[in-house]
Order: sequence, then C-alpha cells, then structure tokens
Amino acid sequence: MNIDEIFDFTSFTIDREPHIVLDDKVCAGCDVRGCTNCCPARCYTWSEAEQKMTFVYDGCLECGSCYVVCQRNAFTRWRYPRGGFGVSFRMT
Ligand code: SF4
Repeated sequence: MNIDEIFDFTSFTIDREPHIVLDDKVCAGCDVRGCTNCCPARCYTWSEAEQKMTFVYDGCLECGSCYVVCQRNAFTRWRYPRGGFGVSFRMT
C-alpha cells in the first residue's frame, strides 16, 4: 500500500519557503531520531555514513508527529504551511 492509498490526498502545493526547518547540529547529536520512525511521509532520512539528517518538506502531511516526538527541539522553525500551500486532502 503506498502513501496515496493510505492518506487519500489530492495534491501538494509546494511553498518555496519551508514550513519546517531543522538545526543540523542538534540532529547530528541525537541518537534517538524518532522522526525517522514516526513520519508517515518519510520526510526524514538519517545517513549513518555522513552522520547527517536529511529532511524534505515537500511531501509533509502536516500531522505534527515529528514536533511531538523530537526530544531535542531540533526545529528552528515548525509551523503549518502558509495559506494556499501544503497538502490538500480530498473531501469525501
Ligand atoms: Fe512528517 Fe508529519 Fe512531521 Fe510532516 S508533520 S514531516 S508528515 S511527521
């Protein structure tokens, strides 16, 4: 089952200004990395080789899980996308 089937979303309108921004240094010092497990859109990827977190906000489903599970408050910005941007869920 892919993400389209699970969440039944219509589309994304991507804002050039990210609505979530991470502090790379805080992420690099984290050994829990709950974001990599909780994000339903798999926006977070940890590279063991580079000791670096990669975050892609384009597919964010705006669930808020990463904000809740992050034990280090690694966000320099966490807000919902500006009006007219982000995910649009299908009305059924
Ligand atoms: Fe992933 Fe939800 Fe955080 Fe968006 S708000 S990055 S979908 S965990």
